[in-house]
Amino acid sequence: MASDSSLSTPLGQAFCERFAKALRFIEDITTNADEVQGKVLGKILGQNTGTEYLQRFNLNGATDKDSFKYKDPVVTYEDLLLEIQRIANGDLSPILCSHPISEFLTSSGTSAGERKLMPTIPEQMKRRQLLFSLLLPVMHLYVPGLDKGKALYFLFVKAETETPGGLLARPVLTSYYKSEQFKNRPYEPYNVYTSPNEAILCSDSYQSIYTQMLCGLLMKGEVLRIGAIFASALLRAIRFLRVNWKQLSDDILSGSLNPKITDPSLIECMSKILKPNPELAQFIVKECEGESWERIITRIWPNTKYLEVIVTGAMAQYIPTLDYYSGGLPIRRTMYASSECYFGINLKPMSKPSEVSYTILPNMGYFEFLLLDPINPVQLSRDSLPCLVDLADVEVGKEYELVVTNYAGLCRYRVGDILRVTGFHNSAPQFKFIRRQNVLLSIDSDKTDESELQKAIDSASMLLHEFNTSVVEYTSCADTKTIPGHYVIYWELLVKDQDKSPSHQVLDKCCLVLEESLNSVYKQGRVADNSIGPLEIRVVRNGTFEDLMDFAISRCASINQYKVPRCVNSTSMLELLDGRVVSVHFSLTAPHWIPERRS
Ligand code: AMP
Repeated sequence: MASDSSLSTPLGQAFCERFAKALRFIEDITTNADEVQGKVLGKILGQNTGTEYLQRFNLNGATDKDSFKYKDPVVTYEDLLLEIQRIANGDLSPILCSHPISEFLTSSGTSAGERKLMPTIPEQMKRRQLLFSLLLPVMHLYVPGLDKGKALYFLFVKAETETPGGLLARPVLTSYYKSEQFKNRPYEPYNVYTSPNEAILCSDSYQSIYTQMLCGLLMKGEVLRIGAIFASALLRAIRFLRVNWKQLSDDILSGSLNPKITDPSLIECMSKILKPNPELAQFIVKECEGESWERIITRIWPNTKYLEVIVTGAMAQYIPTLDYYSGGLPIRRTMYASSECYFGINLKPMSKPSEVSYTILPNMGYFEFLLLDPINPVQLSRDSLPCLVDLADVEVGKEYELVVTNYAGLCRYRVGDILRVTGFHNSAPQFKFIRRQNVLLSIDSDKTDESELQKAIDSASMLLHEFNTSVVEYTSCADTKTIPGHYVIYWELLVKDQDKSPSHQVLDKCCLVLEESLNSVYKQGRVADNSIGPLEIRVVRNGTFEDLMDFAISRCASINQYKVPRCVNSTSMLELLDGRVVSVHFSLTAPHWIPERRS
């Protein structure tokens, strides 16, 4: 980390002090990572000692690491399903946690096609806020002067539901944006957003993004950083501008909102911000009407110092497009977090996306690591007690699966993320996010695994039976050249009766059936968030998958071990497939999706 000396620049003394305190805090907790972890575990076990769950493992009040590791099993979501369902159905007894569960956070990871429900308690919100409060002090070391302008961040709330027992179930950030802590946050010159709360909190995604973009344009000279949570969301905002710039510039010219914005709180708040500005309207028309959108971000917002979005993991696929629109502005990501627990921060936020590492903060939860050994993979079952590595004991260069114990009652829970240790900050390890376990396709926050794709293919290919046609082979890719990106499925078909081959309409229908079979996060992205475009089937000519195998073998794959890849990323393989496409089909309507209500 850079030294504290940069804080001596002429800034408000109060902020200097707060920033210095935050940096000292990071130094303290990372210096004694193991000790902090021991205390965290002791506190969690002490707090939850009377829960049904911990009593089951006969800890008998023990709060030490050894007893815990010896008696408490490593679990997945499926192992906790019964307990979680009881809480969702209104059972108030201390099942997992001694504190009452205040709400469920809905993870983008799914179980049986539905979002996982993560129980949470109010004090978890305080921990999240603590982590948020450390981000700016770190950033300030690298990019001073953020108090001289604003952040254009596209932030959204998503659908929330109520469980049968009356608990809210919503994504962690929706919970945060709707909290009093966020809505009534004190003014902080280093963290001023162009988007008013009304725009962030508007549940209509069109009206929300429209007004956020409008504010970003109105305050364009003040914008110093631009971001969203995921890279895909920022690209969607750029695409939105591309489609709607005329309407936006008309509103700026006239100083009045168009009638598509109907939300009363938005109308009221925008009436204070939007005034006729012909010069700005003309500028937007000039920049947006051209064919080339290269560097559009820096052309419209010339003072932007960096972009802030997640570009690690599946989001890395968006880096070239972001570079194109921003002329290669630095892309920074500050934190690594999930619905289960907030994990850590990036202490070198300006590092290149490929070099981003997160320092896990040992006060956030109790962390253990399952070593990934490709030669002798550990087989975990419900009652297994594998030897997990402690946070302070992981080794540089090795890859691990993250296992977390949090204050809200998750014990030795497998998050599903694979991380590689890149180094240490004091005694706290730093990790590179490698991938999410078992994710084949991802465009936004959706995660589709191999078995989900197989199931969808099985359902769609049923439509072909009456045409005496079957799917001989298939593979897929996430096409992120379109905005929003979309799933592409390559199909090789065996048509046994050429006179009766499936029509174009039937194959279009197959696209929809595929989508209907995918999980609810995918469908929400397609229907409510517009973050995923219509699924596409590309039918390839017969023999294509043999050519694909020949190609892989020519590139050193072993003929005995060759398996058709169910997802293809390599440019040359995609070129081979695309060179053999005989017809292309899309879903003509969106799949059916409503915010799920569990019983
Ligand atoms: P959710 O399940 O919706 O709460 O999303 C949490 C998951 O998003 C994590 O478990 C990671 O797989 C992923 N994620 C969160 N932060 C990052 C990051 N900085 N880089 C890569 N993936 C991330």
